[in-house]
Amino acid sequence: MTSYRKWFCHCKGQPRELVPDPYVEEDSLEPSCLLCGATPSSDPRHTISYKEYEDYSD
Ligand SMILES: [Zn+2]
Repeated sequence: MTSYRKWFCHCKGQPRELVPDPYVEEDSLEPSCLLCGATPSSDPRHTISYKEYEDYSD
């Protein structure tokens, strides 16, 4: 079983899932909000949240 996190940003009211930015350098790969640019480690407006999911497939 593997658990993983999905990150969301609430800057527009509705939660929007963060996606990894394919253009950032690999060593700083972190999901970011396409609308406001917030990331889990840079969240000045506290709009970031996450849910943990568990994968039972393995
Ligand atoms: Zn946002």
